[in-house]
Amino acid sequence: MRIARYTTGEDPAYGVIEGDPSVPGAAVIHALSGDPLYVGVVPAGREPISLDDVRLLAPVIPRSKIIGIGRNYADHAAEFGNEVPAAPMMFLIPNTAVVGPGDPVVIPRGSATLDYEGELAVVIGKICKDVRPEHALDCVWGYTCGNDVSERLWQRADGQWARAKGSDTFCPLGPWVETELDTSALRLITRRDGEIVQDGTTADLVHGVAALIAYAAAHFTLLPGDVILTGTPAGVGPVRPGQRVSVEIEGIGTLDNPFVRR
Ligand code: MG
Repeated sequence: MRIARYTTGEDPAYGVIEGDPSVPGAAVIHALSGDPLYVGVVPAGREPISLDDVRLLAPVIPRSKIIGIGRNYADHAAEFGNEVPAAPMMFLIPNTAVVGPGDPVVIPRGSATLDYEGELAVVIGKICKDVRPEHALDCVWGYTCGNDVSERLWQRADGQWARAKGSDTFCPLGPWVETELDTSALRLITRRDGEIVQDGTTADLVHGVAALIAYAAAHFTLLPGDVILTGTPAGVGPVRPGQRVSVEIEGIGTLDNPFVRR
């Protein structure tokens, strides 16, 4: 099931998408009552509306945190001359960094070397602490696309990654959450102004989704709506003001964002 958060000009609402969103006019949204993360999937009982007539929003606003994972594809670690860490390398991104599909990533003053990083994003569905890997997927609500926008200058200069990866608008998520998905081998394609710059597969994740959840939940209590960014494959590169970056993941869809100078 694909669940979107959207607006038609009124308050944000959630809805289930039916039909093929890649075909104009082919998909509709069935509105839900309340937030499905907390009340389940409860149809609002209204007439469906065309997906083309709504503005999609970030499908989830993380309740407490986004956990990023660094260097979780060997080919990406190698392109920056880094070793693959033995254990997942975690960092935190504040929820204020989240924007939705189509929203601009606003490049802050002082940024000089901004990179895109297309990533599979895991959305947690229930409180999760000290879970074993074999039960970890029970904690998942679904999956979406993410872009772990990174300012390399600050990443190197600061020694920790809060500003480099957590600045406002640096975490686009979307276009919706796919709740039924086997993530063992999904193609992930990032395009910059339409040109393919990353073409990877989640089969190459060093630490897979279940292992990441178990590792994170050994340290942090995961709450419904929290997000884990699973890392980026090779092909990371710069993005300039005026360019667009899209992240397409097989079985989910495409997240597309323009980049603008503040
Ligand atoms: Mg990343």
